[in-house]
Formats: sequence, C-alpha cells, structure tokens
Amino acid sequence: MTDILKIVQSRDPGEKEFHQAVHEVMETVKPVLDRNPQYRESGVLVRIVEPERTIIFQVPWMDDQGQIHINRGFRIQMNSAIGPYKGGLRFHPSVNLSILKFLAFEQVFKNALTTLAMGGGKGGSDFDPKGKSDNEVMRFCQAFMLELFRHIGPNTDVPAGDIGVGAREIGYLFGMYRKLANEFTGVLSGKGLGWGGSLIRPEATGYGCVYFASEMLSTQNKTLEGKICLVSGAGNVAQYTVEKLVEMGAKVISLSDSSGFICDEEGIDGKKLAFVKWLKNVRRGRIKDYVDKYSQSTYTEADSSLDYNPLWNRKADCAFPCATQNEINGKDALNLLRNNVGLVAEGSNMPSTPEAIDIFLDKKILYAPGKASNAGGVAVSGLEMAQNSMRLNWPREEVDGRLRFIMKNIHKTCLDAAEEYGLPGNYQAGANIASFVKVVNAMLDQGLV
Ligand code: NDP
Repeated sequence: MTDILKIVQSRDPGEKEFHQAVHEVMETVKPVLDRNPQYRESGVLVRIVEPERTIIFQVPWMDDQGQIHINRGFRIQMNSAIGPYKGGLRFHPSVNLSILKFLAFEQVFKNALTTLAMGGGKGGSDFDPKGKSDNEVMRFCQAFMLELFRHIGPNTDVPAGDIGVGAREIGYLFGMYRKLANEFTGVLSGKGLGWGGSLIRPEATGYGCVYFASEMLSTQNKTLEGKICLVSGAGNVAQYTVEKLVEMGAKVISLSDSSGFICDEEGIDGKKLAFVKWLKNVRRGRIKDYVDKYSQSTYTEADSSLDYNPLWNRKADCAFPCATQNEINGKDALNLLRNNVGLVAEGSNMPSTPEAIDIFLDKKILYAPGKASNAGGVAVSGLEMAQNSMRLNWPREEVDGRLRFIMKNIHKTCLDAAEEYGLPGNYQAGANIASFVKVVNAMLDQGLV
C-alpha cells in the first residue's frame, strides 16, 4: 500500500470509493515518482488528494403534498491548478462524500487529458429525481442553487450534469443562478441550445467514448464495423454511445437500468434507440418496457444475490459500461473474456473494480479507463465555456470535429506516456501518468497555495 493511501485512509476512514480512486492513480504513477523525486519531496502528493474546498449544505424543499424534505447538497472543489473547477452534479440517493470525492479526484485527471484549461470538481445531492413531478424537481433545484450559487461562477467553478441531472435539471439550476446572480453567464454547461448551450454537448460523452474505442481498434487495423457490443445503462451516456456505435456499423445488443437489463440479439437500431430516448427522457420509464415494444428481446431483472452481472455474460466483441461505478467486478471481467470480448471502453466513471482492471491488463485486451474514454463530455463542456465567453455558437460539424480531434489526441497521449514508461498499450497507466504530470507540474510552478 502506498504511503499516501495510508494517510487518506486514516484521515477519511470509510470513504471506500475515494480510497479506490486514489489507490488506482497512486499505484500507476509510481514509476513517475521514482524518476522525479521532487514530486514526493515537495509534498504535492498529500496536496493532490485533499480537496481545496468541500462545501456541504442543507437543501430544504417542499413536495406537491406540502411535506417538507431535507436533502444534503455537496460541492467538492478538488483542484484548480490548471483552470476553474469543472465537473458534474449527481442527484442519486447513493450520493455521499466518498462517491463525490472519488468523482472529483478522477475529474482532475480527466480534465487535464482534454488539454483544455479546466480544474476538477464534482457535486450533487442524495435527492432522488425518480418518481418526482417536474414541479418537485424544480423546487429542489432552486433550493439547491440557493446555496450553491455563492460558490460557483464562470471563472471559479462551472458545474454540469451527471447521473440524475440532465437537460431539465440544468434548466432549473441555471434559471435560479441567473436570478440570484443577476447576470447571464456560462456558469453551467449542458445548457439548452437556445440559451447558451453547445451543439453536440448531449452527445459528447457517448460519441467520444466510441471515437476512443475506434482509435484503440485502429492500432490493430480493426474497425467497429460488424462488432457485437454490450452497453449498460440507458441514460445520456448509454444512449449516445449506442447512437454512434450504430452509425459506425456495430451491433448493440443490450441496455440496462438499475432494475434490470434487456438483450436484443437482432440489434438496437436507430428506430429502437429513438424509442429508448423517448422512454427514458420523456416518459421517464423503465428499460423493461422495451420488451413490450420489441417482443423478440428479453428482460432480466437485476438480482443483488448474484456475485456477477449476467449482462456481461453474453457473446460479444466489445463492452461499453455506461451506468455507474463498480459495475464490472472480477467475475464479470472473466465472463467478458470468456465470451470473446477484446475491448472495454468505459463510458461511466470507475465502472471496473481493481480486480477487473487487473484481469483486463493481464490479458492485454484493449482497455480504456473512463478518465480517458469518457472525457469527451467535459471536453465539449469546455468548448461550451469557450463559446459562451465569445458569445458565439459553433456549428455542429465544428464541435463534433473538435471532439473527435480531442479524443484522438487523448488516445495518443495515453499511448505515448505508457510507452515512455515501458508499458506499451497500457491506457490506464498512460492516462494516469500524463494527466498526473501535467497537474503536479502546474501545482509546483504556482507554489504552496
Ligand atoms: P443518467 O442519469 O442519464 O443515466 C444513468 C444510467 O445508469 C441510468 O440508466 C441508471 O438507471 C443507471 N444507473 C445509475 N445508477 C445505477 C446503479 N447503481 N446500478 C445500475 N444502474 C444504475 O447518467 P449519465 O448517463 O449521465 O451517466 C452515466 C455514467 O457516466 C456515470 O458514471 C457518470 O458519472 C458518467 N459520465 C457522465 C458524463 C455525462 O456527460 N453525462 C460524462 C462523463 C462520465 P436508473 O434510471 O434505474 O437509475
């Protein structure tokens, strides 16, 4: 165990997701620390694992029946050495300090990989938007922003969406910010197209993940054409991962939500995807309803008594986890390999457990860690910030072209850094090393602040 992990564990006991993320980065940057003793000597390691600021606040709101609820709101401002804090807001009952700190920590490195000037942050609440009316969601978002607005700003901290925070929530949050701050600025990304949003932002994480996967395959002179793909999740990232996969000639056979997963061996085409988008984004229904519409498909209920996820136990070529953290464990990883999967590109954050990652690396399959393969979302958020400050809107082709260029660049950065440290083809090490060096160098340049 690294010394730094021991410090984090004794200072923040019980924050297991945060420990997992710190461990993952610190293990892979060991060769960098050995080659550059100044990093250890300068204390930069203890600084990088401690958020620059942690804000925790009460969010009181009233439901449609007049009942009062108190949720907990958070914003973790992790590191601003290379730009304003940037990272999403998650509304989900599982949200706690550990989950948001792991996400904020990952975000610091992910944002560094994009080459755009963005530090890392993350926030959210244990509020569950599921089953709430639009009015309840609006009142909650307004109450949340009533406190958050004093901590954010277009040059300070620019939040975006994440699980449970989509276009509807960003709209309500932005409306309240605009009223409280009495200014119209690019303080949130993922805004509506008519009021400061960027084309391609909704698509960016999913599209970017597929662009990254395509780059990985091209190192073996392969393409996505005809590849059978497993996708988990059915939200923003999953939907646009499927869209781009289908466009590039792949066949996607699965989708899921927290209740279970569907499998459609005939493939989820554009028409079926349009139904999923309506089901999830408009009707806010469950993925189970896919089977009622497309009767050749099957639905498997989530079963927490199993120590593996049957979704990952299907014959396929590629896997795109796009739901949540730790959704692929060691057993799932072995099942994927047994079923012929040779590429795993992470759309969600930290979906693979450390055991699963070790198995992928050991078998030398194409494995892309989320901080590299899902960086397209925050990259286009960065482009949204640039457009906002210029008061310009770039056309779709331009934003998509820039996204593709950024993903290609991240892919190359990962490979080059891995190669430099004698770990060819190890995207996990490459992503951690390249981003870590960029952030700690900026911290050292700027002194002890
Ligand atoms: P959404 O809320 O749009 O969708 C999340 C999907 O994952 C839903 O289908 C949800 O099912 C499912 N899910 C959530 N929690 C669980 C769980 N505990 N078990 C099983 N399924 C679960 O979120 P996004 O698509 O935006 O985010 C998905 C992942 O991608 C997250 O890890 C996020 O951090 C990451 N990400 C998102 C980016 C973005 O731009 N949006 C950028 C980079 C990463 P249900 O509806 O039942 O909860």
